[in-house]
Amino acid sequence: MIKFLDLQKINERYREEIDSRIKKILDKGWYILGNEDKIFEENFSKYLGVKHCIGCANGLDALNLIIRGYGFCNGDEIIVPANTYIATILAISENGCTPVLVEPDINTYNINPDLIEAKITKKTKAIMVVHLYGQAVQMEKIWQIAKKYNLKVIEDSAQAHGAMYNGIKTGALGDASGFSFYPGKNLGCIGDGGCVTTNDDVLAAKVRAIANYGSDYKYHHIYKGVNSRLDEIQAAVLDIKLKYLDSDNQKRRQIAKFYRDNIKNPQIILPKIYDENAHVWHVFVIRTQNRDKLQKFLEENGIQTNIHYPTPPHRQGAYNELENKELPISEQIHKEVISIPISPVMTDDEVNKVVEVINNYD
Ligand SMILES: *Cc1c(COP(=O)(O)O)cnc(C)c1O
Repeated sequence: MIKFLDLQKINERYREEIDSRIKKILDKGWYILGNEDKIFEENFSKYLGVKHCIGCANGLDALNLIIRGYGFCNGDEIIVPANTYIATILAISENGCTPVLVEPDINTYNINPDLIEAKITKKTKAIMVVHLYGQAVQMEKIWQIAKKYNLKVIEDSAQAHGAMYNGIKTGALGDASGFSFYPGKNLGCIGDGGCVTTNDDVLAAKVRAIANYGSDYKYHHIYKGVNSRLDEIQAAVLDIKLKYLDSDNQKRRQIAKFYRDNIKNPQIILPKIYDENAHVWHVFVIRTQNRDKLQKFLEENGIQTNIHYPTPPHRQGAYNELENKELPISEQIHKEVISIPISPVMTDDEVNKVVEVINNYD
């Protein structure tokens, strides 16, 4: 069976480095908000080309902390793509804000910038873009709209560590960005983890305090904060894996290119990209009319797949209250997508087999 994603194999490559760094943490006996966290935050902000990185407990918290840090609350509207993982939208509603869903572009699966302006009201505070599946959003138009209406641009970069728009990395493309380091992400730890990145000094200080019980220094609480921190072991693992992120992403690009050049089946729609460096291929998503049939066929032929995602957020029970359910493009995408294996540890034989099996599907 070709696994969808072999996490054991991914981390096995760094076992010695990880083991020795965890041993040092145990020897030292300092587990939270210590040197490992500081080192990783410095290295990741340097990597992204952004001033601040603040570690937190997970990607959902990162987005939450940004919205809370900006003070967006009751009834404030935040524009967000309809086609995303539900976490993006949960972060908005958890703060009492209203998610305003915008249809994606069927070619990139990312938010369609041409549909944003019509959704802006007096209550709109921000545009939250999602670099979905690993492809950076084309930001020019987003920036123009944000400037015109004085809106914040927030990035959900949970699927796009290392992706670039015009040479600028995701995480440095908006006013603030949230990353997830969930194990399966391109940069993943061995548990839960996340971070906020920003060039905004005021927001950075606020997020750091809110994430640590609302405290700016020990036992001094200026916000009703939360406990959302990146622990030392996760920070250490991330710092080790960060060194290999670019080469891992390069491997993903090679596989993606091979798939795009060699999968030739009239029933399959391959992903479209606007620039090689824009995409880090968190997942390789294809579309087909009869997705369940293809999934079964691949399973029978030893290929594990996944669906990102089967049901759009506006059709989930959690969001019965949403008024705008006329989102046909998002629904079509959710109905037709299927993700095939891609990872830096796939062998050439495995990649070849995936192509061969898909080309034999009818
Ligand atoms: C993974 C993911 C998140 C949430 O990250 P967690 O660390 O699991 O909380 C948010 N948005 C997107 C697009 C994601 O893929």
